[in-house]
Amino acid sequence: MTEQKLVYLDNNATTPVDPEVLDAMLPFLKEDFGNAASVNHQFGWKAAGGVENARKHVADLIGTDPKSIIWTSGATESDNLAIKGVAQMYHDKGNHIITCKTEHKAVLDTCGYLESQGFEVTYLEVDEFGVVDTDVLAETITDKTILISIMAANNETGSIHPIAEIGRIAHERGVLFHCDGAQAVGKIPINVEAMQIDLLSISAHKMYGPKGVGVLYVRRSNPSVRLGSQMHGGGHERQMRSGTLNVPGIVGMGAAAEIAGKLMAEESARLRMLRDTLAAEVTLKLDYVKLNGHLTQRLPNTLNLSFDGAEGESIIQAMGSVACSTGSACTTSSHERNHVLSAMGVSERLAQGAIRFSLGRFNTEAEIDLVISKLIAAVELIRKISGFSEHDFVESKRFH
Ligand SMILES: *Cc1c(COP(=O)(O)O)cnc(C)c1O
Repeated sequence: MTEQKLVYLDNNATTPVDPEVLDAMLPFLKEDFGNAASVNHQFGWKAAGGVENARKHVADLIGTDPKSIIWTSGATESDNLAIKGVAQMYHDKGNHIITCKTEHKAVLDTCGYLESQGFEVTYLEVDEFGVVDTDVLAETITDKTILISIMAANNETGSIHPIAEIGRIAHERGVLFHCDGAQAVGKIPINVEAMQIDLLSISAHKMYGPKGVGVLYVRRSNPSVRLGSQMHGGGHERQMRSGTLNVPGIVGMGAAAEIAGKLMAEESARLRMLRDTLAAEVTLKLDYVKLNGHLTQRLPNTLNLSFDGAEGESIIQAMGSVACSTGSACTTSSHERNHVLSAMGVSERLAQGAIRFSLGRFNTEAEIDLVISKLIAAVELIRKISGFSEHDFVESKRFH
């Protein structure tokens, strides 16, 4: 028997470490093992050199200076530090926070915690494409609003919010703007100056770096953002995040950022082409397939499709050797209703049939061709077994 190789199409959950990234990290796990805070010897200096070099690469990728980069353990911690840090530091000014219903749990649960501490949170609706209305956002701001937290791109649908417009509104009204950029940074151009972002969360493992390392960009001028620290002990990272730095992880994130900057234009065109081929071939052969997400304002690697009359889980099982997901990795284990699709007004029935395909740097055209044929066969088989006829489809129209 030949063991079939799995095709990995779950790059929005995590990416493999790029071999070049691993090569950059290895010396810092071996001979250059020093503590970046040791100022008295060569081991410390080497480690600090690696960290500062990485800081510059991440800063370059988002259009800022290295001093604005705070190292964290990942985007979850960055989201917590940004939102709780602002809430603590600016609560004299107001207690109102604006976010959106389709945010990652790292933002939603942090906002939920702050509600229990007396803060008021507005959760903005999204349209059927998963995008917030900036007019509604502007109307929601009060003199008590201290923070707007809106992600750049959604992890499940890839839909991109009008970030520059949100940044403009926030700055006009003197409100700080936090953006969860975990899915966007490295995939599409993000510039904290052009987009007037005050706080930006980034994760290394979503951009071919290692797990357990991330960044919070913290604006240093116009305005200079202050944060209440969440981790105390030593005053590392401008007093905002104490703890011995994860030097190998940080060096890996720097290398990942440098590579992402170099490859972005070429890779986004390649992935968009592969993804659009997948979507086109599947909708050519199958009816009752709905695209969840914005048609154009969307990450180039992400495709979220609902297949009516076939459950997402069953389709993935029937395909056999394709690693993709029925929802975000953080919520698939619980059987609660998908909060992103639900906020977009996708029916329960179609949400059940949703699959997220997220492509990445190491996917090939041959892999996508294989997925196309497996996917079509799987959906046809399941629809046939379950005995659905055209009349059974609730939304009795072709979706495409
Ligand atoms: C993955 C992800 C996170 C969490 O990042 P970690 O580094 O895994 O903590 C937060 N927000 C979004 C949008 C994500 O995709």
